[in-house]
Amino acid sequence: MVVGRKNGRGMTATIIDGKSIAAELRGKVAADVARLKRDHGLTPGLAVVLVGQNPASEVYVRSKAKALVEAGMAPFDHKLPESTGEAELLALIDRLNADKAVSGILVQLPLPPQIDAQKVIAAIDPMKDVDGFHPVNVGRLSLGLPSLVPCTPYGCVMLAKTVKPSLAGLDALVIGRSNIVGKPVAQLLLAENATVTVAHSKTRDLAALARRADLLIAAIGKAEFVRGDWIKPGAIVIDVGINRIDGEGGKSRIVGDVAFGEAARVAGAITPVPGGVGPMTIACLMLNTLRAACALNGVKAASL
Ligand code: NAD
Repeated sequence: MVVGRKNGRGMTATIIDGKSIAAELRGKVAADVARLKRDHGLTPGLAVVLVGQNPASEVYVRSKAKALVEAGMAPFDHKLPESTGEAELLALIDRLNADKAVSGILVQLPLPPQIDAQKVIAAIDPMKDVDGFHPVNVGRLSLGLPSLVPCTPYGCVMLAKTVKPSLAGLDALVIGRSNIVGKPVAQLLLAENATVTVAHSKTRDLAALARRADLLIAAIGKAEFVRGDWIKPGAIVIDVGINRIDGEGGKSRIVGDVAFGEAARVAGAITPVPGGVGPMTIACLMLNTLRAACALNGVKAASL
Protein backbone atom coordinates (compact mmCIF):
# COMPACT_ATOMS: atom_id res chain seq x y z
CA MET A 1 0.00 0.00 0.00
CA VAL A 2 1.09 3.54 -0.61
CA VAL A 3 1.84 5.46 2.54
CA GLY A 4 1.47 9.23 2.51
CA ARG A 5 4.03 11.60 3.96
CA LYS A 6 3.09 12.83 7.40
CA ASN A 7 3.37 16.42 8.50
CA GLY A 8 2.06 18.52 11.38
CA ARG A 9 -1.49 18.49 9.93
CA GLY A 10 -1.68 14.72 9.56
CA MET A 11 -1.30 12.73 6.36
CA THR A 12 -0.65 14.73 3.22
CA ALA A 13 -0.62 13.25 -0.27
CA THR A 14 2.35 13.30 -2.58
CA ILE A 15 1.37 15.43 -5.55
CA ILE A 16 2.05 13.48 -8.75
CA ASP A 17 3.62 16.07 -11.03
CA GLY A 18 2.21 15.08 -14.43
CA LYS A 19 3.81 18.07 -16.08
CA SER A 20 7.37 17.11 -15.26
CA ILE A 21 6.78 13.36 -15.75
CA ALA A 22 5.33 14.15 -19.19
CA ALA A 23 8.26 16.46 -20.02
CA GLU A 24 10.68 13.65 -19.17
CA LEU A 25 8.80 11.21 -21.43
CA ARG A 26 8.68 13.73 -24.27
CA GLY A 27 12.44 14.24 -23.87
CA LYS A 28 13.01 10.48 -24.28
CA VAL A 29 10.78 10.40 -27.36
CA ALA A 30 12.62 13.40 -28.85
CA ALA A 31 15.97 11.65 -28.32
CA ASP A 32 14.64 8.56 -30.11
CA VAL A 33 13.24 10.65 -32.96
CA ALA A 34 16.70 12.21 -33.43
CA ARG A 35 18.25 8.72 -33.52
CA LEU A 36 15.67 7.49 -36.04
CA LYS A 37 16.52 10.42 -38.30
CA ARG A 38 20.25 9.89 -37.95
CA ASP A 39 20.32 6.10 -38.28
CA HIS A 40 17.37 5.43 -40.59
CA GLY A 41 16.59 8.74 -42.32
CA LEU A 42 13.10 8.47 -40.83
CA THR A 43 10.93 11.31 -39.46
CA PRO A 44 7.71 10.19 -37.71
CA GLY A 45 4.74 12.23 -38.89
CA LEU A 46 1.32 12.74 -37.33
CA ALA A 47 -1.76 13.79 -39.28
CA VAL A 48 -4.29 15.59 -37.10
CA VAL A 49 -7.73 15.96 -38.66
CA LEU A 50 -10.07 18.59 -37.24
CA VAL A 51 -13.58 18.98 -38.61
CA GLY A 52 -15.44 22.17 -37.68
CA GLN A 53 -14.60 24.81 -35.11
CA ASN A 54 -15.08 23.34 -31.64
CA PRO A 55 -13.01 25.78 -29.47
CA ALA A 56 -11.84 23.05 -27.03
CA SER A 57 -10.79 20.82 -29.96
CA GLU A 58 -8.86 23.72 -31.51
CA VAL A 59 -6.92 24.19 -28.25
CA TYR A 60 -6.08 20.45 -28.09
CA VAL A 61 -5.02 20.36 -31.72
CA ARG A 62 -2.72 23.37 -31.24
CA SER A 63 -1.02 21.85 -28.19
CA LYS A 64 -0.58 18.53 -30.00
CA ALA A 65 1.06 20.25 -32.99
CA LYS A 66 3.41 22.22 -30.69
CA ALA A 67 4.50 19.08 -28.80
CA LEU A 68 5.01 17.26 -32.09
CA VAL A 69 7.34 19.91 -33.48
CA GLU A 70 9.26 20.02 -30.17
CA ALA A 71 9.78 16.26 -30.40
CA GLY A 72 11.20 16.64 -33.92
CA MET A 73 8.24 14.98 -35.64
CA ALA A 74 6.35 16.25 -38.67
CA PRO A 75 2.84 17.67 -38.22
CA PHE A 76 0.30 17.32 -41.03
CA ASP A 77 -2.72 19.43 -40.11
CA HIS A 78 -6.02 18.96 -41.92
CA LYS A 79 -8.66 21.51 -40.99
CA LEU A 80 -11.97 20.79 -42.67
CA PRO A 81 -15.18 22.84 -42.57
CA GLU A 82 -18.11 21.90 -40.30
CA SER A 83 -20.13 20.96 -43.42
CA THR A 84 -17.65 18.22 -44.48
CA GLY A 85 -19.41 15.04 -45.57
CA GLU A 86 -18.59 11.54 -44.37
CA ALA A 87 -17.42 10.37 -47.82
CA GLU A 88 -15.03 13.32 -48.08
CA LEU A 89 -13.51 12.56 -44.67
CA LEU A 90 -13.21 8.84 -45.49
CA ALA A 91 -11.43 9.75 -48.74
CA LEU A 92 -8.92 11.86 -46.75
CA ILE A 93 -8.36 8.92 -44.34
CA ASP A 94 -7.63 6.68 -47.36
CA ARG A 95 -5.02 9.15 -48.62
CA LEU A 96 -3.40 9.41 -45.18
CA ASN A 97 -3.36 5.61 -44.82
CA ALA A 98 -1.41 5.39 -48.09
CA ASP A 99 0.97 8.31 -47.32
CA LYS A 100 4.40 6.99 -46.25
CA ALA A 101 5.27 10.29 -44.50
CA VAL A 102 2.30 9.82 -42.15
CA SER A 103 2.97 7.41 -39.27
CA GLY A 104 -0.05 8.31 -37.17
CA ILE A 105 -3.58 9.54 -37.87
CA LEU A 106 -5.69 11.28 -35.25
CA VAL A 107 -9.22 12.41 -35.95
CA GLN A 108 -10.21 14.91 -33.29
CA LEU A 109 -13.55 14.00 -31.67
CA PRO A 110 -16.37 14.96 -31.49
CA LEU A 111 -17.26 14.99 -35.19
CA PRO A 112 -20.29 16.86 -36.59
CA PRO A 113 -23.57 14.86 -36.59
CA GLN A 114 -23.55 14.05 -40.34
CA ILE A 115 -20.39 11.93 -39.82
CA ASP A 116 -20.41 8.50 -38.17
CA ALA A 117 -17.33 8.61 -35.91
CA GLN A 118 -17.15 4.80 -35.60
CA LYS A 119 -17.05 4.45 -39.39
CA VAL A 120 -14.21 6.97 -39.59
CA ILE A 121 -12.21 5.32 -36.80
CA ALA A 122 -12.67 1.91 -38.46
CA ALA A 123 -11.28 3.34 -41.73
CA ILE A 124 -7.93 4.27 -40.15
CA ASP A 125 -5.10 1.79 -40.73
CA PRO A 126 -4.82 0.11 -37.26
CA MET A 127 -1.02 0.51 -37.47
CA LYS A 128 -1.50 4.30 -37.75
CA ASP A 129 -4.26 4.47 -35.11
CA VAL A 130 -2.30 6.48 -32.50
CA ASP A 131 -5.49 7.11 -30.48
CA GLY A 132 -5.91 3.35 -30.05
CA PHE A 133 -9.65 3.55 -30.82
CA HIS A 134 -9.75 1.20 -33.84
CA PRO A 135 -11.65 -2.06 -33.11
CA VAL A 136 -8.50 -4.04 -33.91
CA ASN A 137 -6.48 -2.16 -31.28
CA VAL A 138 -9.36 -2.29 -28.75
CA GLY A 139 -9.58 -6.05 -29.32
CA ARG A 140 -5.83 -6.56 -29.08
CA LEU A 141 -5.72 -4.61 -25.81
CA SER A 142 -8.47 -6.77 -24.32
CA LEU A 143 -6.66 -9.92 -25.50
CA GLY A 144 -3.46 -8.73 -23.80
CA LEU A 145 -1.65 -8.44 -27.15
CA PRO A 146 0.68 -5.57 -28.11
CA SER A 147 -1.34 -2.69 -29.55
CA LEU A 148 -1.52 1.06 -29.85
CA VAL A 149 -3.07 2.01 -26.51
CA PRO A 150 -5.37 5.04 -25.96
CA CYS A 151 -3.25 7.95 -24.74
CA THR A 152 -5.15 9.15 -21.64
CA PRO A 153 -5.53 5.68 -20.07
CA TYR A 154 -1.90 4.89 -20.87
CA GLY A 155 -0.85 8.14 -19.16
CA CYS A 156 -3.01 7.34 -16.09
CA VAL A 157 -1.31 3.99 -15.57
CA MET A 158 2.16 5.48 -16.09
CA LEU A 159 1.42 8.15 -13.47
CA ALA A 160 0.20 5.55 -10.95
CA LYS A 161 3.34 3.50 -11.56
CA THR A 162 5.59 6.45 -10.73
CA VAL A 163 4.24 6.08 -7.17
CA LYS A 164 4.02 2.31 -7.06
CA PRO A 165 5.90 0.49 -9.83
CA SER A 166 3.88 -2.73 -9.33
CA LEU A 167 0.10 -2.38 -9.21
CA ALA A 168 -0.31 -6.16 -8.82
CA GLY A 169 -3.00 -7.14 -6.33
CA LEU A 170 -4.21 -3.59 -5.70
CA ASP A 171 -7.95 -2.96 -5.48
CA ALA A 172 -8.49 -0.49 -8.33
CA LEU A 173 -11.71 1.41 -8.88
CA VAL A 174 -12.30 3.09 -12.24
CA ILE A 175 -15.23 5.52 -12.16
CA GLY A 176 -16.49 5.94 -15.73
CA ARG A 177 -16.92 3.39 -18.53
CA SER A 178 -16.34 5.44 -21.68
CA ASN A 179 -14.57 3.89 -24.65
CA ILE A 180 -12.01 6.69 -24.49
CA VAL A 181 -10.99 6.46 -20.82
CA GLY A 182 -12.86 4.13 -18.46
CA LYS A 183 -12.90 0.86 -20.42
CA PRO A 184 -9.31 1.00 -21.74
CA VAL A 185 -7.89 2.09 -18.38
CA ALA A 186 -9.66 -0.90 -16.80
CA GLN A 187 -8.03 -3.20 -19.39
CA LEU A 188 -4.60 -1.73 -18.73
CA LEU A 189 -5.03 -2.16 -14.97
CA LEU A 190 -6.07 -5.79 -15.47
CA ALA A 191 -2.91 -6.28 -17.51
CA GLU A 192 -1.02 -4.86 -14.50
CA ASN A 193 -2.68 -7.55 -12.33
CA ALA A 194 -4.81 -5.14 -10.31
CA THR A 195 -8.26 -6.28 -9.15
CA VAL A 196 -10.44 -3.94 -11.16
CA THR A 197 -13.94 -2.62 -10.51
CA VAL A 198 -15.58 -0.36 -13.10
CA ALA A 199 -18.25 1.98 -11.73
CA HIS A 200 -20.66 4.14 -13.74
CA SER A 201 -23.79 6.24 -13.48
CA LYS A 202 -25.93 3.25 -12.42
CA THR A 203 -23.52 1.99 -9.75
CA ARG A 204 -24.98 1.73 -6.25
CA ASP A 205 -23.13 3.12 -3.22
CA LEU A 206 -20.14 4.44 -5.08
CA ALA A 207 -18.68 6.01 -1.94
CA ALA A 208 -18.44 2.59 -0.23
CA LEU A 209 -16.71 1.11 -3.31
CA ALA A 210 -14.30 4.04 -3.43
CA ARG A 211 -13.37 3.62 0.25
CA ARG A 212 -12.02 0.14 -0.56
CA ALA A 213 -9.85 1.28 -3.46
CA ASP A 214 -6.05 1.37 -3.20
CA LEU A 215 -6.07 3.02 -6.62
CA LEU A 216 -8.91 5.27 -7.73
CA ILE A 217 -9.21 6.58 -11.28
CA ALA A 218 -11.94 9.19 -11.76
CA ALA A 219 -13.13 9.75 -15.36
CA ILE A 220 -16.64 11.07 -14.88
CA GLY A 221 -16.80 14.64 -16.18
CA LYS A 222 -18.43 16.07 -13.01
CA ALA A 223 -16.63 18.78 -11.08
CA GLU A 224 -15.28 17.66 -7.67
CA PHE A 225 -17.70 14.73 -7.59
CA VAL A 226 -15.42 12.42 -5.57
CA ARG A 227 -15.19 13.74 -2.00
CA GLY A 228 -12.35 13.45 0.48
CA ASP A 229 -14.26 11.05 2.75
CA TRP A 230 -14.58 8.59 -0.18
CA ILE A 231 -10.81 8.11 -0.30
CA LYS A 232 -9.08 5.22 1.44
CA PRO A 233 -6.21 6.60 3.52
CA GLY A 234 -2.97 6.25 1.56
CA ALA A 235 -4.68 5.50 -1.79
CA ILE A 236 -3.35 6.63 -5.17
CA VAL A 237 -5.85 8.97 -6.84
CA ILE A 238 -5.66 9.72 -10.58
CA ASP A 239 -8.06 12.47 -11.64
CA VAL A 240 -8.87 12.48 -15.37
CA GLY A 241 -11.68 15.04 -15.21
CA ILE A 242 -11.47 18.44 -16.89
CA ASN A 243 -14.35 20.64 -15.77
CA ARG A 244 -14.68 24.38 -16.13
CA ILE A 245 -16.42 26.06 -13.18
CA ASP A 246 -17.06 29.65 -12.12
CA GLY A 247 -14.26 30.94 -9.92
CA GLU A 248 -13.68 34.09 -7.90
CA GLY A 249 -14.16 37.48 -9.56
CA GLY A 250 -16.27 36.02 -12.38
CA LYS A 251 -13.26 34.13 -13.76
CA SER A 252 -13.69 30.48 -14.65
CA ARG A 253 -11.21 27.83 -13.60
CA ILE A 254 -10.55 24.18 -14.39
CA VAL A 255 -11.09 21.51 -11.75
CA GLY A 256 -11.03 17.72 -11.82
CA ASP A 257 -13.60 15.08 -10.89
CA VAL A 258 -12.07 14.85 -7.40
CA ALA A 259 -12.36 17.48 -4.64
CA PHE A 260 -8.61 17.97 -4.63
CA GLY A 261 -8.12 19.80 -1.30
CA GLU A 262 -10.16 17.26 0.68
CA ALA A 263 -8.73 14.22 -1.11
CA ALA A 264 -5.12 15.35 -0.74
CA ARG A 265 -5.51 15.26 3.04
CA VAL A 266 -6.35 11.54 2.92
CA ALA A 267 -4.73 10.06 -0.20
CA GLY A 268 -1.16 8.80 -0.37
CA ALA A 269 -0.66 10.37 -3.80
CA ILE A 270 -2.87 12.40 -6.11
CA THR A 271 -2.71 14.04 -9.53
CA PRO A 272 -3.59 17.76 -9.70
CA VAL A 273 -5.91 19.31 -12.31
CA PRO A 274 -4.51 20.94 -14.34
CA GLY A 275 -0.99 19.53 -14.48
CA GLY A 276 -1.72 15.83 -13.95
CA VAL A 277 -3.24 13.55 -16.57
CA GLY A 278 -3.60 16.22 -19.29
CA PRO A 279 0.13 16.66 -20.06
CA MET A 280 0.60 12.86 -20.01
CA THR A 281 -2.06 12.43 -22.68
CA ILE A 282 -0.02 14.52 -25.10
CA ALA A 283 3.26 12.84 -24.15
CA CYS A 284 1.67 9.41 -24.76
CA LEU A 285 0.44 10.60 -28.15
CA MET A 286 4.06 11.46 -29.02
CA LEU A 287 5.13 8.02 -27.80
CA ASN A 288 2.42 6.30 -29.86
CA THR A 289 3.44 8.23 -32.98
CA LEU A 290 7.05 7.14 -32.49
CA ARG A 291 5.86 3.58 -31.85
CA ALA A 292 3.74 3.57 -35.02
CA ALA A 293 6.61 4.95 -37.13
CA CYS A 294 8.93 2.23 -35.81
CA ALA A 295 6.42 -0.59 -36.38
CA LEU A 296 5.59 0.62 -39.91
CA ASN A 297 9.28 0.72 -40.80
CA GLY A 298 10.43 -2.36 -38.88
CA VAL A 299 12.89 -0.48 -36.61
CA LYS A 300 13.30 -0.26 -32.84
CA ALA A 301 13.58 2.82 -30.62
CA ALA A 302 15.25 2.95 -27.18
CA SER A 303 12.27 4.41 -25.27
CA LEU A 304 9.86 1.66 -26.40
P1 NAD B 1 -17.96 10.37 -20.78
O1 NAD B 1 -19.02 11.40 -20.56
O2 NAD B 1 -17.89 9.67 -22.08
O3 NAD B 1 -18.10 9.26 -19.64
C1 NAD B 1 -18.37 9.60 -18.32
C2 NAD B 1 -18.57 8.33 -17.52
O4 NAD B 1 -18.87 8.72 -16.18
C3 NAD B 1 -19.74 7.47 -18.01
O5 NAD B 1 -19.29 6.15 -18.21
C4 NAD B 1 -20.76 7.54 -16.89
O6 NAD B 1 -21.42 6.29 -16.68
C5 NAD B 1 -19.92 7.93 -15.69
N1 NAD B 1 -20.73 8.70 -14.76
C6 NAD B 1 -21.49 9.79 -15.02
N2 NAD B 1 -22.14 10.18 -13.91
C7 NAD B 1 -21.78 9.32 -12.93
C8 NAD B 1 -22.13 9.18 -11.58
N3 NAD B 1 -23.00 10.01 -11.00
N4 NAD B 1 -21.57 8.19 -10.86
C9 NAD B 1 -20.71 7.32 -11.44
N5 NAD B 1 -20.34 7.41 -12.74
C10 NAD B 1 -20.88 8.39 -13.46
O7 NAD B 1 -16.59 11.08 -20.41
P2 NAD B 1 -15.06 10.71 -20.80
O8 NAD B 1 -14.82 11.03 -22.22
O9 NAD B 1 -14.71 9.38 -20.26
O10 NAD B 1 -14.33 11.84 -19.93
C11 NAD B 1 -14.43 11.90 -18.52
C12 NAD B 1 -13.74 13.15 -18.03
O11 NAD B 1 -12.37 13.08 -18.36
C13 NAD B 1 -14.25 14.46 -18.66
O12 NAD B 1 -14.16 15.48 -17.69
C14 NAD B 1 -13.25 14.72 -19.77
O13 NAD B 1 -13.13 16.09 -20.08
C15 NAD B 1 -11.99 14.21 -19.14
N6 NAD B 1 -10.96 13.79 -20.08
C16 NAD B 1 -9.70 14.23 -19.86
C17 NAD B 1 -8.67 13.84 -20.68
C18 NAD B 1 -7.29 14.32 -20.39
O14 NAD B 1 -6.44 14.27 -21.24
N7 NAD B 1 -7.02 14.77 -19.17
C19 NAD B 1 -8.92 13.01 -21.78
C20 NAD B 1 -10.22 12.53 -21.97
C21 NAD B 1 -11.23 12.93 -21.11
